[in-house]
Amino acid sequence: MSKKSTPAIVKPEGLEKVLLHACCAPCSTAIVEWLKNNSLKPTIFYYNPNIFPKEEYDKRRDESRRHAEMNGIDWIEGEWDHEEWKKAVEGHEHDAERQGRCQICFNLRMKKAAEKAKELGIDTFTTTLASSRWKNLDQVNAAGAKAEAETDGTSFWAQNWRKGGLQERRNTLIKEGNFYNQLYCGCEYSMRTKDDDIDKNLPK
Ligand code: SF4
Repeated sequence: MSKKSTPAIVKPEGLEKVLLHACCAPCSTAIVEWLKNNSLKPTIFYYNPNIFPKEEYDKRRDESRRHAEMNGIDWIEGEWDHEEWKKAVEGHEHDAERQGRCQICFNLRMKKAAEKAKELGIDTFTTTLASSRWKNLDQVNAAGAKAEAETDGTSFWAQNWRKGGLQERRNTLIKEGNFYNQLYCGCEYSMRTKDDDIDKNLPK
């Protein structure tokens, strides 16, 4: 007897519209293509107060907007309140990536995404954060589930967006669109290179 294989990406039944929280254009490319190919209408919500400095935020934002325009989809910007974000992660400046600070960061962004989805009357939200191999998918999904539980009438679409060949497709689409591809996650505490030390980027 042959075993039925589970599809890599499972579209929630009856879904037509989705709010896609986007961290940047590169992470959005293959996801948006998949959504459109599967008869879904995404609205991009660019909400990333974690990104520092402002010039970097602006650069990623402009690329995200350009990507949405290329795809003819709605694009909304959230507030860049980096000081509030810093307060929220206070005490976690030295955490390694994929630990406590990142969970707080995801929680904040997913909460705002759920609220925006509700405001727009879009029941379901998901995030490009679940497409990066640098991020802990369990942390992303926990943040989405928490935001869903705290925001009545919303539903988080927990999906590993690296599946279904999207990881490979992303690389092609980044090249085709000539999108700016950042070298660090976003906050000042993630600005590390192999020769760098986190302390250099901490507030004096
Ligand atoms: S490393 Fe990335 S996910 Fe973690 S706190 Fe910084 S910006 Fe947020």
